Amino acid sequence: MASFRALVLHEEGGKVSSRIESVDEARLPQGEVTVAVEYSTLNYKDGLILQGLGRLVRTYPHVPGIDFAGTVEASQSSAFKAGDKVLLTGWRVGEMQWGGYAQKARVKADYLLPLPKGLTTRQAMAIGTAGFTGMLAAIALEEHGLANRSEVLVTGATGGVGGIAIALLSHLGHKVVASSGRTELKAYLLGLGATEVMDRSALAAPPKRPLESERWDGAIDAVGGTTLANILTQLKYRASVAACGLAGGSDLPTTVIPFLLRGVNLLGIDSVMCPREQRIEAWNRLARDLPLDRLDRMIEEVPLSQTAELAQRILGGQIRGRTVIDVHR
Ligand code: NDP
Repeated sequence: MASFRALVLHEEGGKVSSRIESVDEARLPQGEVTVAVEYSTLNYKDGLILQGLGRLVRTYPHVPGIDFAGTVEASQSSAFKAGDKVLLTGWRVGEMQWGGYAQKARVKADYLLPLPKGLTTRQAMAIGTAGFTGMLAAIALEEHGLANRSEVLVTGATGGVGGIAIALLSHLGHKVVASSGRTELKAYLLGLGATEVMDRSALAAPPKRPLESERWDGAIDAVGGTTLANILTQLKYRASVAACGLAGGSDLPTTVIPFLLRGVNLLGIDSVMCPREQRIEAWNRLARDLPLDRLDRMIEEVPLSQTAELAQRILGGQIRGRTVIDVHR
């Protein structure tokens, strides 16, 4: 029986540990399509799973990795054939079933998307769940009236969602203000397309008033908590904020006043169970609207063997941009 290399998580006495192992193909989960994985990536949620946090994984041994891209090796579905380039993000793969931190994965055909024209498997994983989420957020703002050449705030700017959102929005002609706790990375953020960098401490304290001066035509927020609460007080009349993340907290200490007096919109963004049609639209937009030279500046490539060491760093907000994982190293 053939085997493949994978990063495998084990649980013992409530503690999760990881090691690279050679895994029998017979242990792959059920699914119509077997994929020879080329690249995966590190998302915030991967950090939680690698550390055994958030009760996201219920059954061990487990192969993590919520995203992967590669080539179809075998397919029992008419939707894909051997040799097709594919990608997967979300659907709770890497949580409820084995994921992409391996040279092989097996999933339902419905979970896979054809690799969009113009992107390599490595670029698709540089985008990954984080970039896909940034795109969904930008689409949500557009659908709620974001006009051309608007001023848009992006928080968690040096992270994955934030970085891709900045590159996308600036390429689309918007003026992007990047909020970051790492203002020493200002040159990097300006290089992605931000026109201004603000210190995230300006949005960190609980709002003093239910409404502040109107400032933003739109916002993409990866931080949550008091940051999101402050954004709500500063949105212009009928503007929207897309809430993507909770890097700064899951609470939302706000009032209904911005909704009632300014008609602002709080748009929820979920990438995990996002319907297929919207996924296809978002990936086609990414292939069209994301400048690949700016994506390149965001990438750090690491071998699978060093991935587990990065979990603590992404949870601590210490990773810059996007981490691509070469599963063959
Ligand atoms: P990253 O770790 O790459 O980026 C998060 C960024 O948030 C950091 O780089 C940092 O940016 C900022 N940050 C970190 N800690 C704090 C803090 N305590 N207070 C304020 N800001 C902080 O993660 P991702 O970009 O991949 O994900 C961002 C968030 O979005 C996560 O909460 C994640 O769970 C969520 N997410 C949600 C998805 C969805 O479907 N809704 C999909 C993907 C991610 P800086 O140093 O520049 O301030």
